Amino acid sequence: LIDLIHIEKSFDGEMVIDDLNLSIPENAFLTLLGPSGCGKTTTLRIIGGFERADKGKVVFDGEDISDVPPNKRNLNTVFQKYALFPHMNIAENIAFGLKIKNKSKAYIDDKVKYALKLVNLDGYENRDVDSLSGGQQQRIAIARAIVNEPKVLLLDEPLGALDLKLRQDMQYELIRLKNELGITFIYVTHDQEEALTMSDTIVVMNQGYIQQMGTPEQIYNEPNCAFVADFIGESN
Ligand code: ATP
Repeated sequence: LIDLIHIEKSFDGEMVIDDLNLSIPENAFLTLLGPSGCGKTTTLRIIGGFERADKGKVVFDGEDISDVPPNKRNLNTVFQKYALFPHMNIAENIAFGLKIKNKSKAYIDDKVKYALKLVNLDGYENRDVDSLSGGQQQRIAIARAIVNEPKVLLLDEPLGALDLKLRQDMQYELIRLKNELGITFIYVTHDQEEALTMSDTIVVMNQGYIQQMGTPEQIYNEPNCAFVADFIGESN
């Protein structure tokens, strides 16, 4: 579905992504995992189009999209900070993600209702943003990102701001949501347990390159080097 081909990226003369090649299949739950600063977010931002690689290309469904702006790619992003609009109610926040002009109110209402149902927040249309808990706000951010039915959802540490119990609940919700939507999730985390629980494919990154890629079982049982073994073995 998405191919990253010979991607390189430097910031201030320092190589952050170094000849990265990655093939992401359709319907994957693929997690970029690795320590702080290894280039996970930068890789995600290059896929999302928020950052342009210095070299290499991003191919989506066989088409080179390296120069296509984020809003024209068939994907949406959920960030750690949910960035909802405080002056809009929940329905307006989600409808904003539709990016559709000249649609009837009935059409928009329907879509918003559908997205709210998917994140288990039926009936929250008229609530104010600040009346919601952190976990609920993140669910709204997810609803906003899926309301226009993208083919791919990019998630950058989406549970990072939540407390442990909520984070575990949300992990299972995200797995359910992924299966219900039947789309591709590309997920960034530095949390090994989260990656092992949620993904079908884990890409372990180290200093801008891919150290190992495999199923959670492979990464856990057959780490290909000491770095992966140590990183997976660490507990938070
Ligand atoms: P974290 O888990 O801490 O977010 P990460 O693995 O996602 O880490 P990146 O955010 O991709 O890592 O950053 C990789 C490196 O690139 C870091 O050294 C970071 O300081 C640097 N970097 C990222 N974005 C920029 C930028 N806009 N300008 C300068 N340096 C940057």
